[in-house]
Amino acid sequence: MANVILVVEDEESIRTLIALNLQAAGYTVEEAKDGTQALEKVKSVKPDLVLLDWMLPGLDGLDVLRSLKADPAFATLPVIMLTAKSEEHDIVLGLEMGATDYITKPFSNKVLIARIRAILRRGDAAPPEENIRYAGLVLTPGQRRAELDGAELSLTAGEFDLLALLAARPGHVYTRAQIVARTKGEDYPVTDRAVDVQVVALRRKLGVFGERLETVRGVGYRMRG
Ligand code: CA
Repeated sequence: MANVILVVEDEESIRTLIALNLQAAGYTVEEAKDGTQALEKVKSVKPDLVLLDWMLPGLDGLDVLRSLKADPAFATLPVIMLTAKSEEHDIVLGLEMGATDYITKPFSNKVLIARIRAILRRGDAAPPEENIRYAGLVLTPGQRRAELDGAELSLTAGEFDLLALLAARPGHVYTRAQIVARTKGEDYPVTDRAVDVQVVALRRKLGVFGERLETVRGVGYRMRG
């Protein structure tokens, strides 16, 4: 059965365009034009994923996100925030509130579909593992093997997971809370401070390459895009 995606966007032309593209990609699409309608539709349609515009009349995207996360029935429903605000400090608010991901407008249809697929796939069986390649770095998750310019790196499980998370999506900023939630090693960081400590250790092992692991002040970390 096709996955159902709820598109919440007040601008009709944008909403219709997204809906058509998602339908062409094989998804069943429901639409909502404001926050109140979005919450009603989530309950009646039970979508598999919500594309949620940030700027909406009345209840805005953040209000809708807050309501969903507060409801145990929908707390785990994946939400991708659509935002025209490219300010990382605004984006981080949505992520800290529990959004699964964000996309900055304007975005390409290809990127949107890829993000949706990636999120929906997480719920299924583990996807086939592929090597993560970034600059001179090659990570083989199945073997937990990391190579930099052909030389093997000796990383702890937590460091490997942190590096894999960041290197798999260069340019994307992860908050400390997201890093805590998404990395799982025996020494995985459990606090924001632990993430900082792990980043310092990782940078040291990476040498000059470690400069690519950038701190985004007040937000978190990213691999230079
Ligand atoms: Ca809008």
